[in-house]
Amino acid sequence: MTIITRNSKETEVLGARISRNVPPGSVLALRGELGAGKTTFVRGFLRAFGIRRAVSPTFVIAKTFRVRRRGIFTIIHADLYRLPAGGTLAEVGLAEALNDPTAITLIEWADRLVRLPRTALRLRFAMRGTSRRAITLPAVLATTIHPTRPGRSARVRRRTRARHRG
Ligand code: ADP
Ligand code: MG
Repeated sequence: MTIITRNSKETEVLGARISRNVPPGSVLALRGELGAGKTTFVRGFLRAFGIRRAVSPTFVIAKTFRVRRRGIFTIIHADLYRLPAGGTLAEVGLAEALNDPTAITLIEWADRLVRLPRTALRLRFAMRGTSRRAITLPAVLATTIHPTRPGRSARVRRRTRARHRG
């Protein structure tokens, strides 16, 4: 399923929505060119866990955040942009995280790796002009999220009720 977001806020909201349905032990592999919205998505994802300082960890490769929610105790945000193609997870210190059943690992530029865990959830980000982004989700994530703008049906319902009353 591909979702089009029209600005960075919508991409953050999508990240937050998806974060609620990602079980502990998951690995999210984010692919897509520079500026396609990977970090923006991660920012929304982390914010849903109360983490507010998500910047691209370009110089540290990976940042670890401690959380405590739904059996999730660690979230790792990795950015492999500077890793030469063909790197391994052990080289970037992520091997352990991937085997941690209480961790969620988000990997930007996951395609720099020779091999990803078989169970990794692959998300694809693509630019569609200056402010649109096409974000392709694996079915297992796509089926659990709500439509991009859930506010609409709520508004319609409220309006209908008001009309009946008046
Ligand atoms: P990446 O991590 O993939 O390199 P970033 O998330 O760091 O990309 O950057 C995306 C850039 O594009 C930001 O400057 C953001 O403001 C801008 N942008 C414009 N429209 C969108 C959108 N729909 N979704 C995400 N980012 C967007
Ligand atoms: Mg980035």
